[in-house]
Amino acid sequence: MEKIYPVCVIGGGAAGTMAVIRAVLNNDETLFFPGTAKHKKKSRAFWVSKVENMPAHLDFKKGIEEPNKLSLEWLNQSDFKEKLHWKKNQGVEKISKNSEGVFEITATDGQVYLSQYVVLCTGVMDVQPLINNSIQPILPYANVQLADYCLRCDGHHVLHKKVGVIGHDSSAMWVAIMLRERYDTQCMVVFTNGKNAQFDEETTKLQKLYGIQVIEEAITGIEGNAKLNSLTHLKLETENYIEVEYIFISLGMIVYNELAKSLGAELDSRGFVVTDNKGKTSIAGLYVAGDLRANAKKQIYTAWDHAVDSCDDINVLLRREKRLKLLGQ
Ligand SMILES: Cc1cc2nc3c(=O)[nH]c(=O)nc-3n(C[C@H](O)[C@H](O)[C@H](O)COP(=O)(O)OP(=O)(O)OC[C@H]3O[C@@H](n4cnc5c(N)ncnc54)[C@H](O)[C@@H]3O)c2cc1C
Repeated sequence: MEKIYPVCVIGGGAAGTMAVIRAVLNNDETLFFPGTAKHKKKSRAFWVSKVENMPAHLDFKKGIEEPNKLSLEWLNQSDFKEKLHWKKNQGVEKISKNSEGVFEITATDGQVYLSQYVVLCTGVMDVQPLINNSIQPILPYANVQLADYCLRCDGHHVLHKKVGVIGHDSSAMWVAIMLRERYDTQCMVVFTNGKNAQFDEETTKLQKLYGIQVIEEAITGIEGNAKLNSLTHLKLETENYIEVEYIFISLGMIVYNELAKSLGAELDSRGFVVTDNKGKTSIAGLYVAGDLRANAKKQIYTAWDHAVDSCDDINVLLRREKRLKLLGQ
């Protein structure tokens, strides 16, 4: 008989690491796939540097990866180490359900594992702006957080600054409006970067009220020196230079929902996985935690809370199953 693990956690970012900690400390044997280097590089966890909006994170240069590593290393040496089956640098290639309702999980090295419950935490990634058909020009500025993506995480960086938002729809205009209202920005420009502006009536009204400039020309360069923490201008195709000290990017998200999709889980119109408040999806035994879950704040502490709720729910079901067996039912 092949071993059936009670719990399998897929993804090793904010949600996945918390799911592993909770499941293992609940004393449930847990199979853990944090992802390959390729998965990691494409995850938000990898791109997050300083985390300022949560206590006790200021000392970490990589605010998700470093604390996760510390906790997982501790868990792997704790009294619970036998319960942790940590498949380092392994991701999940394929997942399906067999005729017994057990998940069959194919790892990236081709090994197949069985699991009763799965907590899927594969996350999302922010869409990067193309400048001269490449995402490379933005990356040095994103690395030093002169270009940011998340209002709740990093919106405070723009206090009194000259700010450019890159995006072309009403969501991008809302980002500009909120930053303008909250942080008294010196000036605010929305760059649609060659796309047609698609702002609704409400945002257009507020854009006019706050004097938010809209530029539809393509961006052809970023002027500044990321190494010296300086951003000065965005260059346009007409060779004009627009003064900005800080960029916010609002182009939507790539949702890593392939595994959920392959199981037939219900998704919302943007591709996020629909769940109840414990993270249960439309597929029995499949839970989703973190940014992949629909209708949730995309934050570290939200990912943690999701993970705890899902693993505790699984533990309730596992204990009930054992209890009923003991009672002979
Ligand atoms: C620039 C930036 C700054 C941010 N700053 C903050 C902040 O200051 N505070 C805050 O609260 N939030 C912040 N966030 C949001 C935060 O990063 C996310 O909410 C959080 O990372 C979500 O956790 P997650 O586990 O859902 O996804 P992630 O942390 O992105 O983790 C996804 C994991 O899935 C793995 N994976 C993917 N595919 C597979 C596969 N097939 N098999 C196995 N593993 C796989 C990856 O390796 C990765 O480990 C920021 C986001 C960005 C982009």
